[in-house]
Amino acid sequence: MDFDFTEEQRMLKETVRRFAEKEIAPYVEEMDREEKFIEALWEKSKPLGFLGMGVPVEYGGMLTDYLSFGLMGEELGKVDAGVATTYGAHGLLCANNIARNATEYQRKTYLPALASGEKKGCMGLTEPGAGSDALSLRTTAKKVGNEYILNGTKTFISNAPIADIALIYAQGPGGLCTFIVEKNFPGYEAGKKLSKMGLRSSPTGEIILQDCRVPEENLLGGVEGQGLKQMFSGLDVERFMWSCLAIGIAQAAFEAALKYSKEREQFGQPIFNFEMIQDKLATMSVELEAAKLLTYKGLTCWDKKNYKEARMLAAQSKMYACEMAVRVTGWAVHIFGGYGYMKEYPVERYMRDAKVFPIGAGTTEVQKLIIAHYLR
Ligand SMILES: Cc1cc2nc3c(=O)[nH]c(=O)nc-3n(C[C@H](O)[C@H](O)[C@H](O)COP(=O)(O)OP(=O)(O)OC[C@H]3O[C@@H](n4cnc5c(N)ncnc54)[C@H](O)[C@@H]3O)c2cc1C
Repeated sequence: MDFDFTEEQRMLKETVRRFAEKEIAPYVEEMDREEKFIEALWEKSKPLGFLGMGVPVEYGGMLTDYLSFGLMGEELGKVDAGVATTYGAHGLLCANNIARNATEYQRKTYLPALASGEKKGCMGLTEPGAGSDALSLRTTAKKVGNEYILNGTKTFISNAPIADIALIYAQGPGGLCTFIVEKNFPGYEAGKKLSKMGLRSSPTGEIILQDCRVPEENLLGGVEGQGLKQMFSGLDVERFMWSCLAIGIAQAAFEAALKYSKEREQFGQPIFNFEMIQDKLATMSVELEAAKLLTYKGLTCWDKKNYKEARMLAAQSKMYACEMAVRVTGWAVHIFGGYGYMKEYPVERYMRDAKVFPIGAGTTEVQKLIIAHYLR
């Protein structure tokens, strides 16, 4: 029995599942080995509307509710969490943030091309010296005439090497500000691509802003000093999304381990018969179910605009689901024994991919700080 999904949500889940298995799965190994995103997947995703999941229908997207968006992330994450991250950074961190916070002019200018996939997006908050302490970021924006001049460096930015449009956070005249920056604005440069342990199909890199000239109409929302509010609202949804991707990886790892445990024989019988293996599989199934319920509940609260409860749940689900994925993928490797450590089976990739989830979008420690803050 699947949560309380609507017929549309079930159909979306099924469509994404079929797409991921048919179109993405054949490239997963190559993308992981060669650390690259295959552009053909982007092209194939366009007609299905997956790239516009964060954009409202009136601007050419397919956003209905955030639970649906999360289910798409989960299904993609089951097959390739790197591809899911690429789509999430584009559709959620960039496009959805614009949809929620932009002026009408900005929405009309940027959302249709992001929704169709004609343009790719990313979001740059993190800097070399500002990670968990994001508010200490040092990128500056100075107003000169009818432009803002941005200076600074962003790092660990998903999609930076391929993005046409970047949402950039900077210390502006009235406090923290967000800017919609196009890659061909003078002074914008996608810096070096970074090599990673996992999520290797997701291109990650730096953004260098050197006297980057941004027209004043590209200040997100049109009012200076709104960056903090825009950042926090974005982070809550991002946390749910990361939870969904983590659930997808863990689900794939659990299913692989369960199947293998029934096929692999030692001491004349399937290893599934051993109680210590059953103990692991039982725990994995419960952990997965608990993470799903927490995350789906949070997304449902968000969709019902019950933001106060949803904010706490965003931190709780991010903390639990992402740590759960590390535990479950680790147990999956263990159940596979030596084969689990070999590239021949996908479980070692699941484990490498899962490891980033308690780090990105606010580490587990940061989630605990947030939860404790709400408990005061
Ligand atoms: C693959 C990947 C993709 C990413 N994509 C993006 C993106 O698209 N856009 C973007 O802006 N950023 C992105 N990030 C950055 C990500 O959000 C940061 O890595 C994350 O916020 C942690 O910051 P940090 O890496 O600087 O770690 P640090 O903040 O240096 O933390 C190091 C350690 O110290 C701990 N720590 C820090 N402060 C405290 C505290 N107060 N109490 C207890 N422990 C603490 C942390 O929990 C962690 O264990 C990405 C990162 C990765 C790895």
